[in-house]
Amino acid sequence: MDKWEVARALDEIAKYLELSEPNRFKALAFERAARAISALDRDLRDLVASGDLHKTPGIGDRTGAVIEELLRSGRSRYLDELRKQYPPAIFEMLRVPGMGLKKIGLLYQKLGISNLDELEAAARAGRLATLRGFGAKTQQKILDGVEKARRHESRFLLPAGIDTGELIRQRLAAVNEIENAEISGSVRRRLEVIRNVNIVVATRQPRRVIKALEKIVDRLEVIDESTAKGVASNQIEVWFYLAPPEQFGSVLLRTTGSDEFVSAFLERAGKRTAAKEEDLFRLARIPYIDPERRETADDLRLKKRRSLVELADLRGTFHVHTTFSDGRHTVLEMLTAARDRELEYVGLSDHSKTAYYAGGLTVEGLREQQAEIERQRPAVKPLRVFKGTEADILPDGSIDYDAETLATFDFVIASVHSKFAMPKDEMTERLLRALDNPFVTFLGHLTGRLLLSRDGYTMEFDRVFERAAERGVMIEINGNPRRLDIDWRLVGRALDRGVRFGIHPDAHSIHEYAALISGTWAARKAGLSAKEIFNTKPVEEVAEYLERRRGQAAR
Ligand SMILES: [Zn+2]
Ligand SMILES: [Zn+2]
Repeated sequence: MDKWEVARALDEIAKYLELSEPNRFKALAFERAARAISALDRDLRDLVASGDLHKTPGIGDRTGAVIEELLRSGRSRYLDELRKQYPPAIFEMLRVPGMGLKKIGLLYQKLGISNLDELEAAARAGRLATLRGFGAKTQQKILDGVEKARRHESRFLLPAGIDTGELIRQRLAAVNEIENAEISGSVRRRLEVIRNVNIVVATRQPRRVIKALEKIVDRLEVIDESTAKGVASNQIEVWFYLAPPEQFGSVLLRTTGSDEFVSAFLERAGKRTAAKEEDLFRLARIPYIDPERRETADDLRLKKRRSLVELADLRGTFHVHTTFSDGRHTVLEMLTAARDRELEYVGLSDHSKTAYYAGGLTVEGLREQQAEIERQRPAVKPLRVFKGTEADILPDGSIDYDAETLATFDFVIASVHSKFAMPKDEMTERLLRALDNPFVTFLGHLTGRLLLSRDGYTMEFDRVFERAAERGVMIEINGNPRRLDIDWRLVGRALDRGVRFGIHPDAHSIHEYAALISGTWAARKAGLSAKEIFNTKPVEEVAEYLERRRGQAAR
């Protein structure tokens, strides 16, 4: 067993303990041990042999003994026992929103419910409502949740696909017979929602590699001598394509897709093979196309290639929350984190007064927030700080603060946070009116969608884009992987009308600056280059622009 397999076994024990134990204490010990083992940079066997295992932070007596047994025998009697106590499909109920291990354990113990089908049947028969703490409302919620789980079956957000793919690549790197491995498929194309992870493996010994794959994923199924699929521990399906090194590039291109793009490509390029993808493009006299831009046959026809924006192009950002509204970190913490990321500037924007559920700021609260920003400015030099707000667009299209208050900001992000179900024409008018407010700098998360859980509201997009261009309001690319809003498919239409964009993290904690990475993926997928993104500009230019715009608005 290697460290990943050991960590996986520890995690599984933790899950069973959470099903069965009234307090989380024991489960936490195993979770902590699993994390400690995955993070090891020393060989696990050395660690045990040298006696240092029990001195490793996160490893206790109990967990240490299980780890030793796993390394010695490849099994844990404790885990085997736990597995015997529960039906094999019990964890599939985790896919229902709001269902945690505690609830699942309770339903199993009290009602014998052991999988998704039984959960649905029990809810329909009204049996859940008989349990303490479950009531009719909870029962209906679970029923809706089952339906949702079925609808979103085997669909995942992009970061889950990337993490899974990278983790598996790391483990493949340790297999001697493997010369190279790359992620392909929709993850490589950076599609926002994915169904599986595809990995191309260069090897001259496919049979041995397939043997090795059995230890890396669950339920490995061999389709033919060069294709196999299995399931990662987070339930994502993983496909492996084995290729001799001299054909690696061809298989990478073919499995990256999309199907439409690949067949158009092969039509032009013919059935050549190559070790490198770039060689296939060169041989076919087609300028190289980034994987993000390989969706349709049209992507192949574009004569001029644009160089796509990169994370390193972003010099600063906007749309960052603090503890003054619903953020988890203070002004100083958010600013320090921005400086640590080597951003030159950052724009703080807490919620406005109508968003009371998100701690929206009254004019009074705003004064305090702005005073705190002034206080912290010197501490985070040379970072330049811009004062802003994420102001609600009210149902009638007005902005949540009056002109006098709006004039105190360097920038204003206007966002819809209420009444999503408005008819299309009303929603369009609401947005157009918001765009007419001269203080508005950015339009926040265009449709309010939450991927895999909530559709966005509808509007006449082209009218909104036209007005945004006319008024010089930029449209945000919200990088939160659950939002990625504006949808990349719409960007071309906005761009054609002259709209410019900002890549924003909508960060509610220091960790969420990572959304700049996913935001950049979305911008690349949309075909944008650095010059169309406001926050790639140098700080002086940004400051000057915002100053000028505010001056015009206040007049
Ligand atoms: Zn928002
Ligand atoms: Zn926000």
